[in-house]
Amino acid sequence: MKIAFIGIGNMGEPMAINLLKANHTIFVYDIVRKKINRVEKEGCVYKESIKLAVKDADCVITMLPEGKHVKEAYLNEDGIINNTNKGSFLIDCSTIDVKTTKEIGIVAKNRNLSIIDAPVSGGTFGAENASLTFMVGGRVKDFKFSKPILSKMGKKIIHMGELGAGQITKACNNMLLGISMIALGEVFTLADKLGLDQKKLFKVSSKGTGMSWAMLNHLPVADIIKTAAANNEFKAGFAANMILKDLSIALSLADSVNLKTPAGALAKSLFERFVEEGGGDLDYSAVIKLINGTNKSI
Ligand code: NAD
Repeated sequence: MKIAFIGIGNMGEPMAINLLKANHTIFVYDIVRKKINRVEKEGCVYKESIKLAVKDADCVITMLPEGKHVKEAYLNEDGIINNTNKGSFLIDCSTIDVKTTKEIGIVAKNRNLSIIDAPVSGGTFGAENASLTFMVGGRVKDFKFSKPILSKMGKKIIHMGELGAGQITKACNNMLLGISMIALGEVFTLADKLGLDQKKLFKVSSKGTGMSWAMLNHLPVADIIKTAAANNEFKAGFAANMILKDLSIALSLADSVNLKTPAGALAKSLFERFVEEGGGDLDYSAVIKLINGTNKSI
């Protein structure tokens, strides 16, 4: 299959490489040319625009930061929907607002194009190891069609409902993740201030009732687990800007059903402050700096 992959960032890069390893032909485009360097070396084919990337593709996958980028990529004159093949299959793996997903879905449907939303969970580690979870929204037949493609990049591929249901799932999941990271920052700082060895706290909590995925994979403290951004001066695997976007999506979904979610709102306001103070491009686990006071040095 010929696949156009748009958005070769922290996630898109390893995802495109995994598709390449599965013997697909991969056309790649990113607005930042240097992002293509690694995938091009591996064998992906660089195209100078979205229009050129999608021209001969049987399937188009997007992995872009926010709704506004996805909307532009799909709906612009030079974008995906206007320039892709008639029978081409569209998969948006970005995490974005449901309204944009549905808006693009209507335009795609009017052009007889099949589209699914398939946001992911599992982080950059999951993207590298083809062990992502895909939360799919769309028609059952489109879900079935997408499974062999998505299974080259992930282990769990779950149909959540109609178009947009993947995004709703992702918003709920990442509200949990954002709240968990604030809790980890607070508790590990507290332990440190009380003179407790953070390694020993991890030993107990990681096997106890306080354990979470964020703790096991993204602990905001250095030199305890291998995959922590804290080991690498909080170089972003998943940027603070991104979790703030996800919490904003989750809270507006809560608003839309008149539900109050104070823990989610607090997590959002803390990430907002962290981003305002200049931490947006750091990993989201760097929010611990706001709690332990080391944010002054950002
Ligand atoms: P990223 O910023 O590293 O990558 C996004 C890429 O899109 C960048 O290379 C950027 O240059 C490119 N881009 C932006 N606008 C473009 C356009 N119009 N055309 C072509 N390329 C464009 O972000 P990421 O961490 O890879 O995340 C991508 C999406 O996946 C986001 O929606 C994020 O919320 C979601 N996500 C990220 C993670 C993670 O751990 N990083 C995990 C799950 C989901």
